[in-house]
Amino acid sequence: MSHITVQYKGKTYTCDTDRPLLSSLLSQGGFIPYSCQGGLCQACLCKVTQGSVPKESQHGLDKHLQDQGCFYPCLCKPNEDLSIEVATKENVVFEEKGISSFDTYTSMVIDKSWLNPNTLRLCLVRPEPLQYKAGQFINLTQSENNLTRSYSLASLPCENFMELHIKRVVNGKMSNWLCDTLQLGDNITISGPSGDCYYQQDHATQDLILGGVGTGLAPLYGILRDAIESNHQGHIYLFHASLNAEGLYYQDEIKEIVGDVTNFTYIPCVLHGDAPDNGKQGAIDQIIIDSLGDCTGKRAYLCGDDAVVQSMKERLLQNGLTNDDILADAFTFINEGDQNTQANDS
Ligand SMILES: Cc1cc2nc3c(=O)[nH]c(=O)nc-3n(C[C@H](O)[C@H](O)[C@H](O)COP(=O)(O)OP(=O)(O)OC[C@H]3O[C@@H](n4cnc5c(N)ncnc54)[C@H](O)[C@@H]3O)c2cc1C
Repeated sequence: MSHITVQYKGKTYTCDTDRPLLSSLLSQGGFIPYSCQGGLCQACLCKVTQGSVPKESQHGLDKHLQDQGCFYPCLCKPNEDLSIEVATKENVVFEEKGISSFDTYTSMVIDKSWLNPNTLRLCLVRPEPLQYKAGQFINLTQSENNLTRSYSLASLPCENFMELHIKRVVNGKMSNWLCDTLQLGDNITISGPSGDCYYQQDHATQDLILGGVGTGLAPLYGILRDAIESNHQGHIYLFHASLNAEGLYYQDEIKEIVGDVTNFTYIPCVLHGDAPDNGKQGAIDQIIIDSLGDCTGKRAYLCGDDAVVQSMKERLLQNGLTNDDILADAFTFINEGDQNTQANDS
């Protein structure tokens, strides 16, 4: 195994070349805000000021950010000595169509209610300058512990609040804190928005497949409303899956929103127990294919648990869709196997 050195915030760190830079720094007490560790959430975006980083660590970044040396330390296995800093509006020019994922705000909790026994609806004030597209996600930070996690927006940009759906994860640090400790009127640090899983009007005539599991409904709820408000012409199929009937939510709200729109079909799905009214029992990927058959020409939005999103994607690719037809937000999470990052997580 070989090592290189990394200069970060005035300190020198010795890092392995076969381990993600983020993990090496965290294990030595060099804190960088982070969340998904998969190059999705953008929470850990850094800028290299000396040396160069492997191309893979810039995967998915806009060219103008790559040109400025931006990279994801979670994807970076460094192969030469580097100096780095966290990317901010001060050291990077962001040209993202007026939307910057690196803006940080303080927002207030204005509503907390339960969508089902395990899922919290959390509403925050939308800071005036924060503009987003329905279906994107924001990062929430628990400041005392420097803990950051991503949550998708169920609200519409025109609303003056932001709605999030939080699944309580067993032993989950952020989700349990949001569910139990954070109170109405409290302030919380947020940043964003991020993500490219949002409704696009230039595909208005295509049929849409919205496939979500658990709180994967959150971004789809925003995308659905955006599509309806934009008078989407193609048919919209919403598949919402849960382990059992208790895990489903928003059935009435969805029917209400859709009203008498005729080009919409809602299919609630459960893995265990009887099929819900007008719904199906089974695995969501199979239900989608059984319901729609050949999907050529359709467009899919897939959200929620990483493994389920991947299996829906694979099935759709086998049944007529191309990668360009699929937009996905996989809710990746930090694996407890990574002891070093967990140790620095709280
Ligand atoms: C782009 C994106 C969007 C997201 N949107 C949402 C959203 O809208 N709603 C939402 O509830 N979550 C969402 N997530 C997941 C969220 O960011 C957190 O990962 C999740 O809330 C768990 O954080 P935690 O701190 O509570 O758990 P941690 O303290 O990080 O984890 C505790 C333990 O649980 C395990 N674990 C964590 N999550 C899961 C899981 N889902 N299933 C099984 N084991 C798990 C970990 O490996 C660890 O062992 C999203 C993630 C991404 C990347």
